[in-house]
Amino acid sequence: MGLSIEQALLNATHSLRESEVSEARQDAALLLMHILKCDRTFLITHAKDFLSQKALKTFFDFVKRRAAGEPLQYITGHQAFFMLDFEVTKDVLIPRPETELLVEVALNLLSPSEPASLICDVGTGSGCIAISLLHERKEAKAIGIDVSPAALLIASNNAQRHAVFDRFQLLACDCFAALKPGLAFSMIVSNPPYVTETALLELQREVLDYEPHLALAAGPDGLSIIRRLLREASDYLVDGGYFLFEIGFDQHDAVRTLVDNRVWEVLDFHKDLQGIHRIVSLQKR
Ligand code: GLN
Repeated sequence: MGLSIEQALLNATHSLRESEVSEARQDAALLLMHILKCDRTFLITHAKDFLSQKALKTFFDFVKRRAAGEPLQYITGHQAFFMLDFEVTKDVLIPRPETELLVEVALNLLSPSEPASLICDVGTGSGCIAISLLHERKEAKAIGIDVSPAALLIASNNAQRHAVFDRFQLLACDCFAALKPGLAFSMIVSNPPYVTETALLELQREVLDYEPHLALAAGPDGLSIIRRLLREASDYLVDGGYFLFEIGFDQHDAVRTLVDNRVWEVLDFHKDLQGIHRIVSLQKR
């Protein structure tokens, strides 16, 4: 049966709504825009055009996946972050808007006139943090670390896509375990896993059923990786070097008590757009 763009969108919106997808209409439109490689205006101005059988089949396959809870970004394979487009698959966490604040804070500390900053991104995932920094600071170099080789492959694709591949080295390892001793970074950044074991089970199905738990969960109190990074990061920083990381919505007080004031000067706990203390910035004494 032939369907016009308008009819297909109506059908899809209806089935997404039935499956309790919150942005049903918008997601239906975004999936169709992805398939037709078009913008929203095209969907409106060509509403009466009939879709090919191939486009229809792909569209309803995608709608079915979205209805089952799969995040839109894993279906389209894309997510925008800090004005760049990143490839994402189920092997990496989907970049979140609040993590853009980490990049902003980092850029404020990395002066453009600094000759060559060396940055380390722990748990790089899609590479979104490090690649955004390298994109803005053309003299900087970075190392991206991740325990997941599958994630490193995506980070590598993204580095090529944004032409920073020659300044971005990728390393499969657990935190700093495989770094050469004596390596001293100007800045360490991380969006580590920080969700508690119990909170993990309460996350929406899009996150719980599809995003990599390795990138989310960090022990009973969600602080196991942060604790470890706070212990180890200063060994890999120049004096005066910076350590910036993201934390969960209720971890501000706990993290403050974990910071050893003999090692670190606390610069700030930066609030995200919702007023949640989200990014911690520390400077090695
Ligand atoms: N912000 C993510 C979430 O709410 C968690 C990311 C992380 O653990 N680093 O699902």
